[in-house]
Amino acid sequence: MSTFTRKHIAYHEAGHAAANLLLDHNPSIATIAPRGDTLGRVEQLDGDMFSVEGVTNLIVALYAGAEAQKLYEPKVDLLTVALGAHSDDEEADEYLRLLDCDEASLHAHASELLQANWSLVERIAAELMAHVTLNGDELDILLDIHRGDATDEDLTHYRAISARARARPLSTGRQR
Ligand SMILES: [Zn+2]
Repeated sequence: MSTFTRKHIAYHEAGHAAANLLLDHNPSIATIAPRGDTLGRVEQLDGDMFSVEGVTNLIVALYAGAEAQKLYEPKVDLLTVALGAHSDDEEADEYLRLLDCDEASLHAHASELLQANWSLVERIAAELMAHVTLNGDELDILLDIHRGDATDEDLTHYRAISARARARPLSTGRQR
């Protein structure tokens, strides 16, 4: 896979991840590791399908993938780097039926949210390029860094602790 494509996937997933963080959807993973026919994914734990605002936010988070790609490289033809925006649109269409709202304004909403927090999108994209997968804790720390509530040392410290925990798993108490 070319670096060009990989960067686009990273910005696409960073767009979803940043929007989900900013909308309090508690993303649990962001990855650019391909699986099946998907080139990357973001999963979130929260989100509200039962209010207009909640459904609006779910759609905004879905559109944020393609919007981040457009902001990253406005001249690129999205059709040439489809990257799963098609399935995002299909899912968004399901939600759109629940709303009396036009699609264009929600695309604009997603774009504005990302523009206002572009350094967060860029940071997540760079972290995805470097680490491939980010867990929910790492994403939370990146949001805190973006808001000035945490530092890069906090992220480094978290990663050192989790690497140590992986290398020496805690005893499960199993006896032989
Ligand atoms: Zn997507």
